[in-house]
Formats: sequence, structure tokens, C-alpha cells
Amino acid sequence: MNSYKMLVNGELIDGSSSIEIVNPANEQVLAKSPVASEAQLDIAVAAASAALPGWRRTPVAERARLLRSLVNCLEKNAEELATLLSTEQGKPLAQARDEVAFSQAFASHFADIAETPVEVLLENDTDRVEVHRKPLGVVAGICPWNFPLLIAVYKIAPAVVTGNTIIVKPAPTTPLTALKLGELAQKIFPAGVLNIIADDNGLGPAISSHPGIAKLSFTGSTPTGKRIMANAADTLKRLTLELGGNDAAIVLDDANPEEAAKGIFSAAFLNSGQVCIALKRLYVHDSIYDDLCEQIAALANAAVVGNGLDPSTQFGPVQNRQQFEKVCDYIADAKANGRIIAGGTVPDAPGFCVPLTVVRDIEDGCRIVDEEPFGPVLPIIRYSDVDDVIDRANNSSFGLGGSVWSSDLVRAQQVAEQIDCGTVWINQHCAFGPHIPLASARESGIGVEFAKEGLLEYTGMKVINIKKTYSTPTH
Ligand code: NAD
Repeated sequence: MNSYKMLVNGELIDGSSSIEIVNPANEQVLAKSPVASEAQLDIAVAAASAALPGWRRTPVAERARLLRSLVNCLEKNAEELATLLSTEQGKPLAQARDEVAFSQAFASHFADIAETPVEVLLENDTDRVEVHRKPLGVVAGICPWNFPLLIAVYKIAPAVVTGNTIIVKPAPTTPLTALKLGELAQKIFPAGVLNIIADDNGLGPAISSHPGIAKLSFTGSTPTGKRIMANAADTLKRLTLELGGNDAAIVLDDANPEEAAKGIFSAAFLNSGQVCIALKRLYVHDSIYDDLCEQIAALANAAVVGNGLDPSTQFGPVQNRQQFEKVCDYIADAKANGRIIAGGTVPDAPGFCVPLTVVRDIEDGCRIVDEEPFGPVLPIIRYSDVDDVIDRANNSSFGLGGSVWSSDLVRAQQVAEQIDCGTVWINQHCAFGPHIPLASARESGIGVEFAKEGLLEYTGMKVINIKKTYSTPTH
């Protein structure tokens, strides 16, 4: 059985114990993953702190050059990483390859925009006010299990290129790709700049309360985000929290049902619905409700769900048993409160495969509509009044994304402006990229990831305020 090591202070080390990692397609044990003790976390923080003075003094062009070496390393090892990713996470190999390519694109973009020039706010004969951007110190990145490589890379890249050092902790059910990345990248950065440790889901509180960590970038569920914020309060850590979502899509009466069905289907079921910005509640105007339900159900019924390494597979399993059981509960709720028109019956077989499930004739107020299933289940809700449906879309504690579907872009934009969330798409959903800021509203998070705004979250502002007319003493 393969065993993996953690990267701490430039060395590959074992954990103080280990856990077995399971392939979600068949529940077979894949490998052993190290589990770091709190003492090993302390060692990683000490290494990251020791590396800091040299790294923050390293010119930004050199930091960007080393980040590009990481991009090359991803490219050179793309097939190995994609296969491992598909095996541990479950996604089809083609989508795992896309995730490796996306990771390269994100890291390259942060290398390209790394320069944060001094901003001169005021310049006159007597005064000059400059705004500088400084690294924050030791950063921790805590990652979920849906995009184990991409999310690790999009925390590492902006952190290191702005002069911070980082400790990454992947999710305990998908640590292997991140640990492999640590092994491949061992020699790229000076010792201690990049550290990758793994756990059994127990190390989070020690990370979020650690006095040696200045900033925490977390992607995961809203309840965990709240616990992190509470634990980080004593040390006033800077926080970026990318949390859950329950994105609503509103299909207006003039939408093209065939085109909308295709876009909606892929945005709802990408990565088997395990995407924070997946489309999770679909509101369709009464006049095209039956047509759209039929078309989405036909696409879902034709989809092949299975082992990600099987070339015929289009959708992989749910990533882990806990999430699988949650998704099965949501399907039971959907059956009790609506009419299933695709999927709905989970096979009694090893692994966590769930057929793509579509439920119609369901209303707000059910768990499957109001909560985030984070799996391949889509509720389709009927509406007749646009103002009313905008209120219903906004009636959520989440506020990550939303979308409007219409053949009239002006009308669609008017609706989009009234949806309260970080991103509203028009005639698409879930489109994202390294150059587009990812923001959120309400309990979907705090802060911004990606783009210049995301890069700056890894820096602190420092003002230098100069009185130019200060005269030299005459002796
Ligand atoms: P999770 O919150 O259970 O776990 C995420 C990570 O947090 C794991 O590494 C876990 O070990 C760690 N963790 C657990 N308890 C902790 C604690 N007390 N302190 C610090 N860290 C702790 O989330 P998950 O189940 O892995 O991921 C699914 C959730 O993540 C969904 O709600 C989804 O919407 C959200 N998510 C959001 C985004 C986004 O960009 N907004 C992206 C991906 C996933």
C-alpha cells in the first residue's frame, strides 16, 4: 500500500499516527495518510516563522519565478496527479485533468499579478502619503474534499507570492494529492516556505487558535467557518472564509428551455453537485415549468455515474460516507415532499455512487430546497410572479451565487441586480476563473478569493506618511 509523507521545513516526514484513505467508488483502502500531532503542527509553524524573514525580503520577481516552477511541476506530473485525484476524490479522470490544469492556471495568474506597486495617495510640495502592501506572516490554509488540489493551490499561490509562508492542511478524506504535491515541490521553495500537513479531522482548532499563525484561509462548511472564527478571535487572525452556498437560479418565462436545460444541468451536477457555487435551487416560471423539468430529467436519466477511472463515467461518486449518508437523507426528503423524475434510488453496492436525482412539484420550506445538499440532487420549484421569486431566492442564510436565465438580457440584468449574493450569472452558472473575484454575502463567507482582490487578502496595508518640509538642524 502506498504511504505518503508530510512536507515540513523542507523535509518529508511521517505523522505521529496514520489513517486509511478510501476510494469512494468502491470503498477499498487506497493508501495510508499521515496524521500530524499538535507538536508537529508547532514544528511546522516554527519552520514557517523561521523562513519568513528571508522569504519576505526575497524580491517579488524571484518569488513569482519559484511559483512558476510550481506550475511547471504540476504540468510535468499532471497525469500522475490527475489519476490520484480521481482515485481519492472520485471525479472522472477527464475532470481531474481539468482540475490539474486549473491549478496551473490559478498559480500562473497569481505569479503574473504578484507585483503590488506602492500607491501614492497624496503628493504635493509638503506631503507624500504612500500605501504599501506587506505580507502578513505565517498563513494556514484549511481545505475541503471537493477540489483537493485546486483549492490547496489557490491558497498556496497568493500566499507565497506576496511573501508569506504557508501551512496547508487538506481534508482528512482527500489528503493524498496535496501530500503528493508537497513531495513533488519539496525542492522548489526554501525550507519552511511551503508546509503540507495532514490530520484525522482533529487539528483544526489547534490551527485556528495557534498564536504563531497570522492568517487563516478556509474553504469548507459554514458551521466549521463559524467555529474557526470563534477560535481565531483570541489571536485576531486575518480570515478569509469561503463557506457553503445554496445558489438559486431563476428561469424567466422567455428563456429557451432547451438551451437553459443544458446549462442548468451541468451547473447543478458538476462534480456530482459537490461544488460550493453549484446551482442548488431551480425556480422555473409556470409557463415553461413542465418542458424544462422534462428536459433536465432526460439529461439526468441518461448520465453515467460510476468509478472515475472508468472512461464511460460522466459523474463520480459522492466523496465520503458521511456526505453520502447526508445526500441519501436529502433524497428521502425530496421523495416525501415532491415527485422524483430522475434518479432517486441509490444502488445497494459498495461505494458512494448516487444517481443524478431531480425532484419536481416541491416547495420552499423543505430541507432539500432550504439547505445545501452538496450532492447530485436538484429541486425544481414552480413560480409565477418574478418579484415574489426574487424574494424567495434571497430568503436564505447563504449568499454565495445565483443566476438568471432569459433571452432578454436587459430584463435578466434587472433581476440579477436584485439578487443578494457574491456572484450573479446570466444564462450561465458556476463560471469562475483566476481573474474573477469570488465574493460572498451573509453566511457564505467573509473576504474574497482570486484576482487582485484575493491576492491583497494575503497582505496587510501599511501607510508611510511623509512630511517633506522637515528641515535639517543647523549646528
Ligand atoms: P468541513 O467544514 O467539514 O471541512 C473542511 C475542512 O475543515 C477540513 O479540512 C476539516 O478537517 C477542517 N475542519 C473540521 N473541523 C474544523 C475546525 N473545528 N476548525 C478548523 N478546521 C476544521 O467541510 P467539508 O465537508 O469538507 O466541505 C463541504 C462544505 O464546504 C460545503 O458546505 C461546501 O459548500 C463548502 N465549500 C465551500 C466552498 C466555497 O468556495 N465557498 C468551496 C468548497 C466547499
